[in-house]
Amino acid sequence: MPLPLYALAVRVIHWFRRDLRLSDNTAFAAAARDSKGDVVPVFVLDDALLRGKDVAPARIAFLLDSLRALDAELRARGSRLIVQRGNPTEVLPAVLAATSADALYFNRDYTPLARRRDEQVVDTVRRMGARAESFKDLVVLESNELLTSAQKPYVVFTPYKRAWLSKVGERVSTLPAPAQLAAPVLESPPIPTPADLGVTVEQQLPRGGETEAQRLLRAFIAERITRYDALRDFPAEDATSRLSPHLRFGTISPRQCLQAALEAKNLADLRTHAAFDTWISELIWREFYIQVLYHFPHADRHNFKREYDALRWGSGSDALDQARFAAWCDGRTGYPIVDAAMRQLNQTGWMHNRARMIVASFLTKDLWLDWRWGERYFMQRLVDGDPAANNGGWQWAAGTGTDAQPYYRIFNPTLQGQRFDPQGDYIRRWLPELARVPDEFIHEPWRMTPMDQLRSSCQIGKDYPYPIVDHAAQKDEIVRRFKAIRTN
Ligand SMILES: Cc1cc2nc3c(=O)[nH]c(=O)nc-3n(C[C@H](O)[C@H](O)[C@H](O)COP(=O)(O)OP(=O)(O)OC[C@H]3O[C@@H](n4cnc5c(N)ncnc54)[C@H](O)[C@@H]3O)c2cc1C
Repeated sequence: MPLPLYALAVRVIHWFRRDLRLSDNTAFAAAARDSKGDVVPVFVLDDALLRGKDVAPARIAFLLDSLRALDAELRARGSRLIVQRGNPTEVLPAVLAATSADALYFNRDYTPLARRRDEQVVDTVRRMGARAESFKDLVVLESNELLTSAQKPYVVFTPYKRAWLSKVGERVSTLPAPAQLAAPVLESPPIPTPADLGVTVEQQLPRGGETEAQRLLRAFIAERITRYDALRDFPAEDATSRLSPHLRFGTISPRQCLQAALEAKNLADLRTHAAFDTWISELIWREFYIQVLYHFPHADRHNFKREYDALRWGSGSDALDQARFAAWCDGRTGYPIVDAAMRQLNQTGWMHNRARMIVASFLTKDLWLDWRWGERYFMQRLVDGDPAANNGGWQWAAGTGTDAQPYYRIFNPTLQGQRFDPQGDYIRRWLPELARVPDEFIHEPWRMTPMDQLRSSCQIGKDYPYPIVDHAAQKDEIVRRFKAIRTN
């Protein structure tokens, strides 16, 4: 007589990837349940991801910090994290053989690169006679769960959001972390430091790990979410959650974020509900871009709207383009709000969302540089650098993305500064050379007379550059180029 399923002793490998936490981890909870705690927790430091062109030291450091935190959580439950270096398609079969495990569980990822890699791993594991199971976890709603009435993917955010909200409703459930796990069955080398991997980190980075992510979420919900819609666009304000690197690496789940927001909203004054809804909208933007890249993998490298492939980027002089790009990267464009934002990125690995929109508009519309240049630079610096959100954000700003609006998305950097950093607090924080410039000149320091410059200890052209381009003239030319595409 066959044994009932629950009597079979199984051992399950859980392959951690973008889910570096124990609570509300769908595949990990299933692995713990199915194996009765006999889980082999594995993370593979994939050489391809450590050495690729889009690698950021900031993300490697945040990842390693989060792995150490995860290891501590596992040890508190009697287990530990096995960290192996190499190609997952080779490492995981070797771990499977060494541990005599019966199955490999993991949470699905949706980028073109991850999908190709995961198919190969699943194939190899199954050929070895073991089970390979993948789970939905990275998102609340998966790409194929939400399609238009014509069974097509959404390409416009507002109807996507409406459908998302109506499907998810006002309640979402989360899973607890397993209480106890089996003792480790495999040795693991120590978790490396960035220096062990030859990575130098110059930025001041946020801490990784699940406990830190939960602390940030609690603090945001308790202290700031009710003012989110009023203050979120002002980069000098600490008004947003700062959860992006945690959502990127899965030290917190989107369901945990949504649950906390919905529960707090239920208890909150009706007048503050709009603020909760605005924040929830941002979580939906995250899923929107994940499903865009899933359904339209060409957007990874090309314009989402292919007609813009004919658009001519650049000034015609490669040397000038390179010099302008270097000025943008270093925060030396002469437009204070742009430069402050780039310095924030370079020094901290994070940039405020309004500032991201401003610098992306400046790169594409004022410097006429291909959005892919900026996208790559962001990926090389951002601690939250995420292929879907970054690509979506850049194509949105360039006007080549899902809701192409090339003319309206030309931000005047001076007006943006005046509107969203009225006293210049953000500018002065990141550009100490402008610290003593009076408010009336803080967004246009080139208008200072020599006497003003003397008084504010800031000589334009020496301590701070003149604008490298004239916004009005640059704007007219890029509009002309976009219009030429549209009429053709
Ligand atoms: C050009 C450009 C590039 C960007 N690149 C990235 C990136 O690489 N990684 C990234 O996570 N976000 C990116 N964003 C989106 C946004 O700027 C950041 O998510 C946000 O600033 C993170 O701060 P926060 O965690 O305090 O956000 P909050 O305002 O607290 O929002 C909560 C969460 O919602 C998600 N979110 C918010 N806004 C967006 C958005 N516009 N698109 C997708 N998800 C969003 C993030 O996961 C964020 O943590 C980019 C935006 C632009 C314009």
